[in-house]
Amino acid sequence: PFEVLIVGGGPAGAAAAVYAARKGIRTGVAAERFGGQVLDTMGIENFISVPHTEGPKLALALETHVRENEVRIMNLQRAEELNVENGMASVRLVNGATLHAKTVILTTGARWRQMGVPGEEQYKNKGVAYCPHCDGPLFKGKRVAVIGGGNSGVEAAIDLAGIVKHVTLLEFDTKLRADEVLQRKLRSLPNVEVLVSARTTEVKGDGQKVTGLAYENRVTGEFHEIPLEGIFVQIGLLPNTEWLRGTLDLSPRGEIIVDAHGQTSLPGVFAAGDCTTTPFKQIIIAAGEGAKAALSAFDHLIRTSAP
Ligand code: FAD
Repeated sequence: PFEVLIVGGGPAGAAAAVYAARKGIRTGVAAERFGGQVLDTMGIENFISVPHTEGPKLALALETHVRENEVRIMNLQRAEELNVENGMASVRLVNGATLHAKTVILTTGARWRQMGVPGEEQYKNKGVAYCPHCDGPLFKGKRVAVIGGGNSGVEAAIDLAGIVKHVTLLEFDTKLRADEVLQRKLRSLPNVEVLVSARTTEVKGDGQKVTGLAYENRVTGEFHEIPLEGIFVQIGLLPNTEWLRGTLDLSPRGEIIVDAHGQTSLPGVFAAGDCTTTPFKQIIIAAGEGAKAALSAFDHLIRTSAP
């Protein structure tokens, strides 16, 4: 069996693998798609000490770093069940195999909920964005929309208003759902317009990049178009934890509940990165949390394993 089995191969999983392997313990990584969300990213400018890189390049660097250590990488393997019995964990893969491990680190990440309208897929990374911390500065002085009037949408609009020329926030419902204190701050900003009962129907573009957004006013049934350069979709981040439901404690949003050490509700099972309750979903944070979870797993091993 593995001493540490990591499920997921994004920044959190890669960091956990390097840290575990450097303790000289049997380490494995099973990942559906090594690289994770980083593979879907264009420019990355906030991974400290690397002023600019691109997603596929960083994903390759993560994998190269892991491979320089003694780690068994099982790529293109999706886990579908976790069990812990008598201090030993087992992870069943979709391919039918079962992996056994003394400790497990879950780093299955998350995915942004998409609008599912024409143009969204085509213009992803070409004006359609999901992360204001990541891509906000790309729209300096430009016009953007934020889709979604929950806390993350309103926070994004406030954040972007300080960078871009103009923000239009569109909410499907008749009113915003964000905390009142955020709404008050939003209303105080001169370059933000809020549209409620607005159903986004299409992302418009010129073949190269976004040029506008079409929406329906759900009260009047009229269709409108807003000319703009960027669209930030903030309608939810979904953790990839469906397969863990009923196995360990998840938050109401489906995030794996972890303590400051990355410990989950199951002894010997740790978690890190976007799939957890740790706030702020970013590469550098996921990597740091992955390292922390690996050190916690090692700590668990030296306390529980026979010498
Ligand atoms: P992920 O990167 O999501 O990796 C999860 C891993 O788990 C993957 O290998 C996946 O295949 C695997 N997996 C999932 N389910 C299973 C399963 N059941 N069995 C086995 N494996 C599984 N952050 C920044 O800091 N800067 C940026 O500029 C930036 N830009 C972004 C742009 C886009 C378009 C997106 C989508 C995200 C961006 N982010 C950015 C966010 C950043 O990518 C994430 O915070 C980070 O990748 C999280 O790392 P992670 O390891 O927790 O999860």
